[in-house]
Amino acid sequence: MPLPPHVPVLIAGGGPVGLTLAALLAEYGIASLTVEADDGYCTGSRAICMSRRSQEILGWVGADRPLMATGLAWTGGRSYFRDHEVLHFEMPHDPSQRYAPMVNIQQYRVEEYAHQAMQRHPGLAALQWTARAVGLRTEPDGVSVEIESEGKRQTVRADWLIACDGGRSSVREAMGLKLEGMQYEGRYVIVDIEQESQRPVERLAWFDPPSNPGSTLLMHRQPGNVWRVDYQIRDDEDPDEAVKPENVLPRVQSHLDMIGETAPWKPLWISIYNAKCLTLDRYRHGRVLFAGDAAHLVPIFGVRGLNSGLDDAGNLAWKLAWVLKGQGPDSLLDSYSVERVHATRQNLAYGAKSTEFMAPPDFGFRLMREAALRLALVDSGVRPLINPRQSAPISYDGSPLNLGDGAQQSGDAAAPGQPAPDVLFLDGGAPRYLSASFGAGFVALALSPGAALSAELDALAAATQSAPHPLRVLRAGADGLQDTHGQLRLRYGSAAETVYLLRPDGYVLGRWTAPAAAVLRAALAPYYPCVSPAPTQKRQA
Ligand SMILES: Cc1cc2nc3c(=O)[nH]c(=O)nc-3n(C[C@H](O)[C@H](O)[C@H](O)COP(=O)(O)OP(=O)(O)OC[C@H]3O[C@@H](n4cnc5c(N)ncnc54)[C@H](O)[C@@H]3O)c2cc1C
Repeated sequence: MPLPPHVPVLIAGGGPVGLTLAALLAEYGIASLTVEADDGYCTGSRAICMSRRSQEILGWVGADRPLMATGLAWTGGRSYFRDHEVLHFEMPHDPSQRYAPMVNIQQYRVEEYAHQAMQRHPGLAALQWTARAVGLRTEPDGVSVEIESEGKRQTVRADWLIACDGGRSSVREAMGLKLEGMQYEGRYVIVDIEQESQRPVERLAWFDPPSNPGSTLLMHRQPGNVWRVDYQIRDDEDPDEAVKPENVLPRVQSHLDMIGETAPWKPLWISIYNAKCLTLDRYRHGRVLFAGDAAHLVPIFGVRGLNSGLDDAGNLAWKLAWVLKGQGPDSLLDSYSVERVHATRQNLAYGAKSTEFMAPPDFGFRLMREAALRLALVDSGVRPLINPRQSAPISYDGSPLNLGDGAQQSGDAAAPGQPAPDVLFLDGGAPRYLSASFGAGFVALALSPGAALSAELDALAAATQSAPHPLRVLRAGADGLQDTHGQLRLRYGSAAETVYLLRPDGYVLGRWTAPAAAVLRAALAPYYPCVSPAPTQKRQA
């Protein structure tokens, strides 16, 4: 099929990050073409644990519904040292929350749901299977990308190219860029098996289990009676031998016997994995931006790979949309790189800690881990040390977008640069989540605003009505959204007349108590050129 000669946005790679980005851009009215080298969704053992934040981002394009309907929600897990339980952890959650802390689902299903979300915008989000980006030429105002499809080569000129082409990114290679960081020696066999089980959905880890002495073994349930089993192989084992079914199946059988899972089972996929902590130092190179595994490779322990890739997409989509629609400065895209490189560095630090605990890289680490596990058997105070920290959104400390903190008595959780904590309100008697307002325009959340502040916010919202994604004002207080569960007070404080400006990706831009109109206008003007700052004037209470 002939490809268009020109597109505003070309996405190289239709994996979960590329497809989600295309769907998000389409929601913002931005046309894109995604070229995917394969002829369908991914196969093999890939991501399974999707974080609360990822569910929220997928929710911006309606992909959270099928994910929640099919996925297996979980809230905690157990760790065992030999055959003793040493930890039973729970992730922060309560029944009033919109999403579970984690949902297990196969990566190919995430790709399918993101693709379905794209298909809701047939004129905007195009996908070409079996089309591979094989070369490119960058220019100051765009990129010419050579694409090979059905044995033919065509050149597509894109105003912007987004590299979502995974860990072996051809775009990265064509631009002579290299991921930097380190790779661990320890290797894991990853096996997906099919077996019926009544076991609760939890993250299960065994250190030095009797079934596989000396190894570390993880188990996760997935939809469709599928188990993910990961186990560490000895340093002296040949990885090619280790993945042979005759070596894998007895180890899995031994473990299933140990935990009393007796139903018949069969292997679906067997592969080998070793953890890497790698990143580009910048995710923007002129008109080329990198996202997902093309930008960074994060260890699977702590499940921050795809989860952070979706955060890249959520951060990039609105910024690209604002720049393309002439609503925001080009420097917004520099902030994408600053914020997401910062997030990757944090994710790598957490991922490295988890990896070193799962597969100690040297004798010293091994000794320390054994000491912690032995102590955890008898001393509950030690158990937090062995608690695996699962993926969570990273705060953008030091982001150039953060505005000064002008709030009084406000919750620290919602300071500028932090991911805006969710709140379940009652809106005229109906439940309403704050997070359901993200993924579109900016949001002004006002705590018990007086009449004058309310009027100012209305004037601001009215001034943005002709913008592609107007400002939305949410008022909490006597005549507005009801903080029935006390979550607003806990997470955002209780100082009346406090206004939080929240970014489209659900991060706090700035907050002020009793702000002057000019302060709010100045804060919004970079994103809503129609809102010009008025001369500074103290608002009358
Ligand atoms: C065993 C395992 C378990 C994991 N578990 C988790 C987990 O539980 N949670 C988590 O968050 N992460 C997990 N991950 C990591 C996760 O799988 C990756 O982070 C995720 O796949 C990244 O998505 P992506 O879209 O950036 O890249 P990919 O999924 O690699 O997609 C890239 C796409 O680009 C295509 N492509 C490549 N080159 C080109 C080209 N030149 N032109 C066009 N198309 C191209 C590829 O065919 C592919 O479809 C796991 C990974 C592994 C291996």
